[in-house]
Amino acid sequence: MDGHVEIIDVAPRDGIQNERVLLPAADKIELIRRIADAGGRRIEATSFVNPKRVPQMADAEAVMAGVERRPGLSLIGLVLNEPGLARARAAGCDEANVVVVASETFSRKNQGAGVAEVVAAASAILAGARAAGMRTSVTVGAAFGCPFEGEVPAQRVLALVESLLPARPDEIALADTIGCGVPSQVRELLAGTRALAPHARLRCHFHNTRNTGIANVLAALEAGVDALDASTGGFGGCPFAPAATGNIATEDVVYMLERMGVATGIDLDAVLRTAQWLGERLQRPAIGGVSRAGRFPAPAPQACA
Ligand code: ZN
Repeated sequence: MDGHVEIIDVAPRDGIQNERVLLPAADKIELIRRIADAGGRRIEATSFVNPKRVPQMADAEAVMAGVERRPGLSLIGLVLNEPGLARARAAGCDEANVVVVASETFSRKNQGAGVAEVVAAASAILAGARAAGMRTSVTVGAAFGCPFEGEVPAQRVLALVESLLPARPDEIALADTIGCGVPSQVRELLAGTRALAPHARLRCHFHNTRNTGIANVLAALEAGVDALDASTGGFGGCPFAPAATGNIATEDVVYMLERMGVATGIDLDAVLRTAQWLGERLQRPAIGGVSRAGRFPAPAPQACA
């Protein structure tokens, strides 16, 4: 652990995409502004996917058009295909995050095509994004297990990573899409990916479905991960992953890292205020443990019963 880790807030994309309440674009724009005000420097702002399949993301262009641009702030658009990349470019995204999935069944359900076909398409998208001057990430979804096929062997994930290397992504993200992963998998997959791609930045995306999220964060830190996805309030889920629940909460990750002396550049109190605000908008309370219990030590004297 080198005393600093980057947190990418995915609340505006993963955090809300599966919520029952459709947030108006103005609220999404305010959410992004609040995350940036709290110190977030990379934010997954939206996704450019089929609005019929993910209605919450139908206003991606309006959100990007309304977001205030700031020096040093990088806005990420998630894309699944060439039309998605064209939209992300036109909307002015700084980065493209391209998704591939490590299981055939999930790949077909999520992207309507098998893994080999998606890898070929993703490689072309990564090349197109780089040529357009965008920073590039590739996310390997279901890297820790598949809701349809069960275990996903590490060798299969690493072979998939290897097949993506000719496209030279700036960053490789390993995603526990359904929140089934455990720390030993994190260690094995990060070590394997680092060995294959020593120059790429490594990023992890965890969901806390089975309460292993924060343990996975610690394992990833100890394995030298460069960036972690987290969602303000702990909201989140995938429309195509049954029973998937929230991303790891930004407030919980920032809290733990701050107390461990690992810098994130993010203001915990500001995250807590935004988590509460977002919970009001979504009509359900924030899930993060620090949102529920408060920070420690308490900012002001607290009465104990
Ligand atoms: Zn996710």
